[in-house]
Amino acid sequence: MAARPEGDAEGLCGPGAGGLALLGLAPSAPSCPHGPALLFVKTSQGKEEGRRFYACSACRDRRDCNFFQWEDEKVSEARLAAREEYNRNHQPSFTHRQNVERYENFVLLPLSKRRFCQECQQLLLPAEWEMHSDHQFQSDISTAQLKSPSQLLYPLENKKTNAQYLFADRSCQFLLDLIIDLGFRRVLCVGTPRLHEKIQSKASQEDDFRVRSLLLDIDFRYSQFYTEDEFCHYNMFNHYFFGGEASSETCRKFLYQDDGERVIMVTDPPFGGLVGALASSFKKLMSMWKKTEKEDHNNQEMPVFWIFPYFFESRILEYFPSFSMMDYQVDYDNHALYKYGKTGRRQSPVRIFTNLTPSTIVLPVEEGYRFCTICQRYVSSGNQHCEICNSCTSKDGRRWKHCLLCKKCVKPSWFHCNNCNCCALQNHTCEKTVAGCFVCGKAGHKRSTCPNLSGTRTAYRGNGKQRKKTLKRVKMGICKRSVMKHAIFSRKKVKNKKKKT
Ligand code: SAH
Ligand code: ZN
Ligand code: ZN
Ligand code: ZN
Ligand code: ZN
Repeated sequence: MAARPEGDAEGLCGPGAGGLALLGLAPSAPSCPHGPALLFVKTSQGKEEGRRFYACSACRDRRDCNFFQWEDEKVSEARLAAREEYNRNHQPSFTHRQNVERYENFVLLPLSKRRFCQECQQLLLPAEWEMHSDHQFQSDISTAQLKSPSQLLYPLENKKTNAQYLFADRSCQFLLDLIIDLGFRRVLCVGTPRLHEKIQSKASQEDDFRVRSLLLDIDFRYSQFYTEDEFCHYNMFNHYFFGGEASSETCRKFLYQDDGERVIMVTDPPFGGLVGALASSFKKLMSMWKKTEKEDHNNQEMPVFWIFPYFFESRILEYFPSFSMMDYQVDYDNHALYKYGKTGRRQSPVRIFTNLTPSTIVLPVEEGYRFCTICQRYVSSGNQHCEICNSCTSKDGRRWKHCLLCKKCVKPSWFHCNNCNCCALQNHTCEKTVAGCFVCGKAGHKRSTCPNLSGTRTAYRGNGKQRKKTLKRVKMGICKRSVMKHAIFSRKKVKNKKKKT
């Protein structure tokens, strides 16, 4: 099998950037166990260069899936057959149906016989105990535990493929309350197992709880806990339903809304980039919804909450101009460096992007959010309305300041440098490189002090060496999401001591 070319799986940089660019889903793309592969091309100096190739859409780690094929490569019959066999062998050992039947049997067992194998991440039936005898297991699995699979299952946070970061209960409850207050009755949960689980368990416990949800996720372990109407094994990077037509039909049916049963999609994808691939899948889900519509919704879009870090704002808006970013900081549970502790709360860089009218997204006043009547949206406590920009300009929650020379608001830690002709950190090194900044392309500053860092993804125009270095770091985001989240979450400490909940 051909080796992957040296370079970095792209994500943050689209075509025009250095490194690798995502071209997308090609109609005749070959498949790996994760569905159709994505087409990439190596780029240099803003130009597409070299051969195009296919690689796995879901896995940024070769150890998870090493699928690779040149676009123009002639694949022999023998290799095709071997590949098909490989794909077959790399499907889960039980089908979703089998898992549902196993669950039905499992709940009939007395508590003392309910075991969960921690190594296989699987509910065990007594006949299977022997096979797992030298594995660690949890016993006495209660009904409550079965209703909270995201607590029972080990979060796949170190696996680049899944990168599971679970909502803190506070954020999950906030999302659900918001959804209900906005009048939605159906929630398409795309990569949000914890939100799904909250909805499912409420629905099974409270008679008057009317909200329904469907989980779409690549983590097949969830098929042990949900029926085919509650969970679809789905890859959000290539819009692939592992369960085929029946599964996508389930999704389509779910999106069909009767009167008063409005649908919203809530997604919290891995942050590692490939925004283009995500956007294209979400557009497909949105058009699935549109096709189920009656004439009265013709010009509308399916309501969406896309949960993602604020520095992807311009990338997301590029694909979804109707979206706007909310100031709400989404919190996660399983991040060691991101929790309330002695050192105080860390600010989360994760936000909600939505196509709903911003003024309708009410953020909790108890947490310091307030309504800006001019911007007509809720903003974080530190986000001051700038008279000159005529907008609440902070992206990261801290109070930003206006620079008259740059004609915009900048981070509080920045100062205007006359040498560089832009704002930068005080201790930045003035640089007059010919090539200019990797981020904005302008001469005079480096990437690390670029005033545009929080926003644009515009071409990385460094010289070759520097670009490689930058891409190494960018790659951390794509290839090592855990590392990236680590970096994101550990950066800032909260300034506002009041903001403790
Ligand atoms: N905060 C969310 C979880 C987000 S973590 C919650 O608490 O509910 C990202 C989720 O996306 C995980 O559930 C992971 O399994 C899923 N995921 C990762 N890659 C995926 C892919 N290619 N397709 C679909 N889901 C994926
Ligand atoms: Zn404002
Ligand atoms: Zn300003
Ligand atoms: Zn300035
Ligand atoms: Zn300078």
